[in-house]
Amino acid sequence: MPELPEVETIRRTLEPRLVGKTIDRVDVHCDRIIHGLEPAAFCARLAGRTIASLGRFGKYLFFVFDDVSLVSHLRMEGKYFLKPGEDPVVKHEHVVFRFTDGSSLRYHDTRKFGTMELVPKGQELRLKAIEAMGPEPASPAFSGAYLARRGNTAARPVKSFLLDQNIVAGLGNIYVDETLFRAAVHPETIAKHLFRAEWDRIALAAKQVIERAVSDGGTTIRSYVSSLGVSGMFQTELKVHMQKGKPCPTCGTTVVKTVVGGRGTYYCPRCQVKKPGKGLVVGLTGGIASGKSAVERLFRKAGFPVLDADAVYKDLSKSGKVLYNDIVAAFGSGILGETGEIDRAKLGAIVFRDAAARGRLNAIAHPAVRAAMLSWIETQKQKGAELIVASVPLLFEAGFETFCDATVSLWCPPRIQLERLMKRNGFTREEALRRIGAQMPLKEKCRKATHQIDNAGTRKQLHEEFEAVLRTLRS
Ligand SMILES: [Zn+2]
Repeated sequence: MPELPEVETIRRTLEPRLVGKTIDRVDVHCDRIIHGLEPAAFCARLAGRTIASLGRFGKYLFFVFDDVSLVSHLRMEGKYFLKPGEDPVVKHEHVVFRFTDGSSLRYHDTRKFGTMELVPKGQELRLKAIEAMGPEPASPAFSGAYLARRGNTAARPVKSFLLDQNIVAGLGNIYVDETLFRAAVHPETIAKHLFRAEWDRIALAAKQVIERAVSDGGTTIRSYVSSLGVSGMFQTELKVHMQKGKPCPTCGTTVVKTVVGGRGTYYCPRCQVKKPGKGLVVGLTGGIASGKSAVERLFRKAGFPVLDADAVYKDLSKSGKVLYNDIVAAFGSGILGETGEIDRAKLGAIVFRDAAARGRLNAIAHPAVRAAMLSWIETQKQKGAELIVASVPLLFEAGFETFCDATVSLWCPPRIQLERLMKRNGFTREEALRRIGAQMPLKEKCRKATHQIDNAGTRKQLHEEFEAVLRTLRS
């Protein structure tokens, strides 16, 4: 299929050969190519007119006359041939423009998918199909800012996004592959997950790729036109497209082929690394004293925002905040300390002994904590965080895993959990066991979570476990 550079090459090749020629008559041998007018009216409108120039937008070619323009779309197989008028009309030459100087321009199309339509001169871009199209890569309107604005809500792979003519005009399959290679972006990356810097790289790469292809096409086609055939199909210097099994010109890794949105897609798996979405939400959980706060610190140290549901709950249950009145109403003023704030130890003593009381507190607290966490997550996404960590002790019990893209559970043997709890919190063995028993068993949390971090060993081992999980989250 001819793409923008090929159509531009056809325009550049044909224009000097056609300008000044006057149409004697037009023969249409395939009616369905002509749109908007009856073929006879189409031919009558063009008879006697002189070609003033050739224009192009996207993959549309314009033959501009004095007051009318012929808009031609070559679609899959359309080609133009310049031939002496006396040459016999051969198969697949569906429209023949005969000039007064005895020469002729033949439109050849084995698939008959191409279209021709007449519009008033100057109205070419007002054609419905063209008006809906996005800017061309060479246009100043096509920029990283433009792509980021359009791509911000697009949930499809960037490859499909860039093939959409309503986003970019004339960037076809070959050049999208080449653009993404230059920009070092994996073709399956979800468009809305790309950062502004990546959109900037894509915009620049698309401009360079198209510019290069147009100039290559211009030189390739010159020798070719002597046969009077202008198909426009040429192979520019392709780095990945159609290069399956060959070494990547940058790193030597074997170029692979996959299918994205039904289109054959070529890329270098090393240069174009798939990255996690912008704002991958990671739910972090683990039993009491399983070492969750140590892992929270590791996430923070690695530069990712972390919000602890316990901290959110503590804040929301302060006097004057949304949960305070409901909790006091449910458990009585006996849970209040001297300052009038909820005394966590007093409330804890009630709810850790009594499953029904615990259920009441959770029913009051979870919706407000969830809403606060979701709003914080949204803010982090808008800031462009790559990974967002929601640390929630009751992640699965509260159903908070439903807003997480991945879940990580800490694992440590119950014996260690118990020891830590007695030593750290000063609980008796009985109290520590009760606290552990009030939560979903750690084993079950680990089974439900998409990732596990083993925290039974040393600090160094924990760090290694963390790094390993982080790598899989980002891959
Ligand atoms: Zn490579």
